[in-house]
Amino acid sequence: MNMTDKKASAALHPDTLAVRSAVERSQYGENSEALYLTSGYVQPSAEVAARRFNGDEDGFTYGRYGNPTVASFERRLAAMEGSEAAISTSSGMAAILMMCMALLKTGDHIVCSQSMFGSTIKLIGTDLARFGVESSFVPQTDLAAWKAAIRGNTRLLFAETPTNPLTEVCDISALAAMAHQAGALLAVDNCFATPVLQRPLALGADIVMHSGTKYLDGQGRVMAGALCASEELVTEKFLPILKSAGMTLAPFNAWVVLKGLETLDIRMRAQAAQTLALAQWLEQHPAVKRVFYPGLPSHPQHLLAMAQQSGIGGAVLSFEVRAGSPEQARARAFHVLDSMQLLSLSTNLGDTKTLAAHPASTSHGRLTEAQRQSAGIGQGLIRVAVGLEHLGDIENDLSRGLSGLDALK
Ligand SMILES: *Cc1c(COP(=O)(O)O)cnc(C)c1O
Repeated sequence: MNMTDKKASAALHPDTLAVRSAVERSQYGENSEALYLTSGYVQPSAEVAARRFNGDEDGFTYGRYGNPTVASFERRLAAMEGSEAAISTSSGMAAILMMCMALLKTGDHIVCSQSMFGSTIKLIGTDLARFGVESSFVPQTDLAAWKAAIRGNTRLLFAETPTNPLTEVCDISALAAMAHQAGALLAVDNCFATPVLQRPLALGADIVMHSGTKYLDGQGRVMAGALCASEELVTEKFLPILKSAGMTLAPFNAWVVLKGLETLDIRMRAQAAQTLALAQWLEQHPAVKRVFYPGLPSHPQHLLAMAQQSGIGGAVLSFEVRAGSPEQARARAFHVLDSMQLLSLSTNLGDTKTLAAHPASTSHGRLTEAQRQSAGIGQGLIRVAVGLEHLGDIENDLSRGLSGLDALK
């Protein structure tokens, strides 16, 4: 946990902050950020130790509570999201758990989109329900449904935009106003957009949640998570949960993600530019029925997405292959994926390597067919998280399967 270097941040651009903020050099003057692998800290005196443990003086006491490398990552992410403070966790799911443990108790109610990340729906709808936390899941883009779901005991609205895999976009400002009118907080899962495209706190949200595992690392190496929020929420609500529950981010992982932040801006812009070009190419392809990408004018929330996401659609798209029946659609989608020689068949995202997956049989495989239908996840749907390979090579690899589809049964 740590605070943003507020004065310094105010004068600098976000891409500069990504490289220069939260650099704390040791006595050796290293230019690259140091990695502090230690679980404990030597205290200068018993008196200072007592003050530090009591929270009366800044200073590291134990690895579960804090670490200089972890603190650098938190301060840099806070600077990029424009938040007063940030606190990191061992994974994105651990960040959501920390948020819910800190803000909800038995009898409280949370409203989420029904198209959120699958593990988020399981954690909130099933696991937290065992502790008496109530939840409602509403259609992502239906503001009236969000409003109708709010009750007297609603403490938190939790949105993710754009969503996976259909890239549905919800209106952060409208949801923030709605939450605040009800005396609740709005949290936004900003994994897909990252602070490069979208800064939910500036749009009125109270908490930004991250899976550092995705674009913040950017090269698919480590797990990490974080919450960005006010100093008050971080120190008074989240930090006590971190201390007792121990979902601490490992210093090595923090160092990897800290360095990942330095190239986030350039990676996101390059990967998103490729994604837009790939989306346009797929939309013209005779074997493709429909493309889901916020950067395309055909996307239902295109204008909202462009206004909310700095005019950039993001680096994930999905497309549906043309087919007669669900069985044929599944066989055709499998054919496209199994014909790839370059792209990775993987359900992850946020990597420099392009990853492609079949949501209906993987990330959304545990849903019933009716749930899948209502989520709009067809058997012919393929999700592509676009990386940094040459666009022509990505298109060629998808062409291998797509161009042969009509010859299939
Ligand atoms: C991956 C992901 C998470 C969970 O993060 P982990 O680091 O895997 O725990 C949450 N939300 C979204 C949108 C994600 O893509």
